[in-house]
Amino acid sequence: MTHATASELAIRGGPKAVTADPGDIFAWPIVTDEDEQAVLDVLRRGAMSGLDVTLEFEKRYAAWHGVRRALGFCNGTAALLGAMWACGVGVGDEIICPSVTYWASALPALSLGATVNFADIDPDTLCIDPADIEHRIGERTKAIVVVHLYGHPCDMDPILETARKHKVKVIEDASHAHGALYKGRMVGTIGDVGCFSLMAGKAFATGEAGILITNDRAIWERAVAFGFYERTGASRYAKGDEAAITDPQLVRFAGLPMGGFKHRMNQTCSAMGLVQLKHYPRRMAEIQKAMNYFWDELAGVPGIRPHRVAAGSGSTMGGWYVPVGLYDAAALGGLPIGRFVEAVVAEGARCGGLPNKPLHVHPLFHEADIYGHGKPTVLAHAARDVRQGPGTLPVCEAAPERVFSVPWFKHCRPEVIDQHVAAYRKVAEQAGELLKEEA
Ligand SMILES: *Cc1c(COP(=O)(O)O)cnc(C)c1O
Repeated sequence: MTHATASELAIRGGPKAVTADPGDIFAWPIVTDEDEQAVLDVLRRGAMSGLDVTLEFEKRYAAWHGVRRALGFCNGTAALLGAMWACGVGVGDEIICPSVTYWASALPALSLGATVNFADIDPDTLCIDPADIEHRIGERTKAIVVVHLYGHPCDMDPILETARKHKVKVIEDASHAHGALYKGRMVGTIGDVGCFSLMAGKAFATGEAGILITNDRAIWERAVAFGFYERTGASRYAKGDEAAITDPQLVRFAGLPMGGFKHRMNQTCSAMGLVQLKHYPRRMAEIQKAMNYFWDELAGVPGIRPHRVAAGSGSTMGGWYVPVGLYDAAALGGLPIGRFVEAVVAEGARCGGLPNKPLHVHPLFHEADIYGHGKPTVLAHAARDVRQGPGTLPVCEAAPERVFSVPWFKHCRPEVIDQHVAAYRKVAEQAGELLKEEA
C-alpha cells in the first residue's frame, strides 16, 4: 500500500487539489431583481408577443455594435436561417462553413435547398482556416459562414479578401463571441451580416432568442420578409416601426412571411436582453480578467496551452463562451487526452472534451433524405457532390484529441482559480504516473 502524499494524484487515491467552495464563480447568467422586474412587466402587460420592447432592444444592441440595424429572433438558429436566405442562399447553392461548430452554423442551408462545403480549421484559433476557403468556391457558392469559435475571433482580413474577390457574402456566426474584438472591431460587424444566439447558456443570455445585425439594408429587409409577417409594413405593428420593408420585390408579398416561418422574439427575452446589455460589458471584462489569470498562472505547464488571442493584438475573447485549451499529448509522453481529462476531473476541477464534434463526417450530411427527394438531401439540388468523408479535414478530425474544455470562471477570485490551476498543473506534471498505469 502506498502512502498518499499531498502531491499524489486524486485519481490514484491522493487528495483532491480543489477543495474550495466555488460559490457563484460558475453561475450564469447573472439574473437580478432588475431582470425579474423587466420580465414581470412584460408578463403583467401580456406583451410577450408584442414588439415595443424588442424594437428598443434591437436599437440598443445595434448601437452597442455601432451598426445601423438589428433584428430580434426566436433563437440563433432562426437568425442564421434568415441571414442565409437574406444573403441569397437558395436551391442548388452552396455555403462554406467550418466543420467544427454547432450544427446551426450549417444545417439551415439544407432547409433552403442548398448544400454545405465544409472547410478545415486553423490548429491554433480553431476557427475556419482562411487558406482552406478559396479552392472551395464554385459557381454556386453564395456565402461563407464563419464562426468565432469558443470566443476566439476568426482571422477576418484574409477571409473578407477572398469573399470580396469572388463576390460571396460573409455571415458571421458570433454565437460564442458576444462583445469580442477582432483587431479592435466588434465581431458580427465585419462581414455582411452577424448572427448571435442569445439562448440561456451563451455568454450573452436572454432566455431563448437570437439576433441579427447588419449595415446592409437589403439583407435586413430580406430577413424581415422571410420570417416577420407583422413587420413587412402590411400590419398595424408597422406603424412607427422604421422596420417596414421598401424593396418592391418584397413589398408585393407584404403581410405574409416568404419563408413560411415566424421568427419573432418573445418579449420576456428582449426585456431581459435590455437589462443584460447594461451590465454585459462589465461582466465580460471580469470574465476576461479571470480567464487570463487562469491561463497566466498555467504558463510553462507542459502539454497544455491556452486557446486565446495574443495580448496587444487588439483582439479579445468576448465573454469567453466555453473556454478550451490546446493539448499536446507528445509533450506528456503520449498520455491520451481522455485520461488527462479524467485525472483533472478527479482532482475536483472542471475539465472536459471538445464541445463540438466535426460535422463533415456526420451521416446527416451524407445520407439523410430529409424531404423525400429519393436521394440524400445534400445532393437533392446540388450541382456537385461536396460531401467529404474521413481524412479530408485533418485539423477538424484531430481536434477531439487536442482540444479540452476548461472552467468558465465568471469572477476573478484567485482563491478558487488557484486550486483549479493546481489541479491542471498536478496532472500535467505527473503524467508519467498515469503513463505507468497505461503500460
Ligand atoms: C448556440 C449556437 C447557435 C444556435 O443558437 P440557438 O439560439 O441555440 O438556436 C448557432 N451557432 C453557434 C455556433 C452556437 O453555439
